[in-house]
Amino acid sequence: MTAEAPTRNLDFIREIVEEDLRSGKYKSVVTRFPPEPNGYLHIGHAKSICLNFGIANEYGGHCNLRFDDTNPTKEEAEYAEAIKRDVNWLGFSWGDHLYHASDYFEQLYLWAEDLIRDGKAYVDSLTAEEIREHRGSLTEPGRESPYRNRTADENLDLFRRMRAGEFPDGAHVLRAKIDMQSPNINMRDPVLYRIRHEDHHRTGDRWDIYPMYDYAHPLSDAIERITHSICTLEFEAHRPLYDWLIENVRVPATPHQYEFARLNINYTVMSKRKLLRLVEDHYVSGWDDPRMPTIAGLRRRGCTPAAIRNFAERVGVAKRENVIDVDLLEFCVREDLNRVAPRVMGVLRPLPVVIENYPEGQREEFETPNNPEDATAGTRKVPFSRVLYIERDDFMEEPPKKFFRLAPGREVRLRSAYFITCTGVVKDEGGNIVELRATYDPATRGGDAPDGRRPKATLHWVSAQGAIDCEVRLYDRLFNVEDPESGGDFLTHLNPQSLEIVPAAKLEPGIRGASPLDRFQFERLGYFTVDLDSTPEKLVFNRTVTLKDTWAKVKGESK
Ligand code: ATP
Ligand code: MG
Repeated sequence: MTAEAPTRNLDFIREIVEEDLRSGKYKSVVTRFPPEPNGYLHIGHAKSICLNFGIANEYGGHCNLRFDDTNPTKEEAEYAEAIKRDVNWLGFSWGDHLYHASDYFEQLYLWAEDLIRDGKAYVDSLTAEEIREHRGSLTEPGRESPYRNRTADENLDLFRRMRAGEFPDGAHVLRAKIDMQSPNINMRDPVLYRIRHEDHHRTGDRWDIYPMYDYAHPLSDAIERITHSICTLEFEAHRPLYDWLIENVRVPATPHQYEFARLNINYTVMSKRKLLRLVEDHYVSGWDDPRMPTIAGLRRRGCTPAAIRNFAERVGVAKRENVIDVDLLEFCVREDLNRVAPRVMGVLRPLPVVIENYPEGQREEFETPNNPEDATAGTRKVPFSRVLYIERDDFMEEPPKKFFRLAPGREVRLRSAYFITCTGVVKDEGGNIVELRATYDPATRGGDAPDGRRPKATLHWVSAQGAIDCEVRLYDRLFNVEDPESGGDFLTHLNPQSLEIVPAAKLEPGIRGASPLDRFQFERLGYFTVDLDSTPEKLVFNRTVTLKDTWAKVKGESK
């Protein structure tokens, strides 16, 4: 950044970063994204990734990917791989800066011994329950543990034996010796280490004690010489402890913590614990179920990385908790897909139409632009023949006043093809409409009439000859209330209609050969993406979003 740089609307974190660079407090900026590998990343994490990697990129620094693996858990390896894939997919790179909190266990341990020798930490032998009782509450001060004044030698001996595995889980903990009277509960002699006889996916059985997040995090930041340690608001009350550790441990650098409001979105849940529940209890097909707010789910659904980055930018960096309308996310997805997704015609619920005056066996092709928003996207040929499919919804035998689409005796335009007029309705024994009869006007080839007449509706269609059958999965919100976490079990708010499978949609032949994650606009219907379950024999599509933009209309955002 130079002083001449044009003034931009900076969020408060970027303001701090700029000021720190201008004042020379730091020569370059180092941030980190510190996921705990205990689940897949969600859109909230994407917000944090865009912020941390974004700042590093904008100011010529770097952002570390640090696995906060202080908790020994079993599935870490799968999650860690998924996290790396998701960060990369979002368009960010950590370069050589991939770290693990567990890499620092030895150093963290040595620093804990230093704290003990300095009289700033002690081994407490109260039970977890007793420690909780002694801690007091917001209104009540804490009480000191009877073990608080053990000598440094006694503490060192016990702590070393904790490490050596001599004691069962819960027998002792190491606590910082700060202030049991502090108005901030986090400062009432917080626990730094606990005994856990569990294997760790990276350090194996080497450790029987594990550091607490509040201890490991600031010190890991210092080891990595992080300049701006950006986290969410719930850590605000932990900042005094962060600063206390940086001050009282002989660390090589002095990072600072800054808090911003976590991203919340309506109609979904975002805590990994709850997302795990949805996966484990099979309410969804997996972490990458297209209804999940996970990055893997959004990717499978068809969202683009650019759309998610734009979303994160529009949401901004707030200092107060707020809830973002999911319509904004969909708006960003639509905005990007409108630019990049090729158009095709597809009919979800096909109703055959026989064009009676179109010669049997005749076939022609219409040259159609792949994307009217993108001149470089080229054109394709869409076949037309005597039997076509239109959307069942686009026909009504007895149309109400405001229905302008096809009806008996009425003329409509078939996009890029001809005008047709419905001349008859064929029904089965049960009275269900199974086919329409129509005539076409050869003078309207390409979709325009020489006499200038204009039908009120333009329909999409697919030629029966050459049509490709495919499955289409339509998604609705996973929850049917804005805040599934308010009141009762969040699972009671699951939307039973969040997935609808359309088994036999018809698509124009040009779609053949599409591969998983390819994205398209089905004209008039929305944006669709080839699902991972798709095979060359059977294409499966996910509807990413409809074309109906609720957000821009409500908020007056112009396209
Ligand atoms: P969860 O509460 O969903 O389990 P977490 O905070 O435990 O998430 P971590 O893996 O610890 O998940 O998060 C890694 C980073 O992502 C942290 O810096 C955290 O502050 C940030 N983060 C997590 N959730 C959000 C969110 N909703 N909005 C913004 N940042 C988030
Ligand atoms: Mg966490």
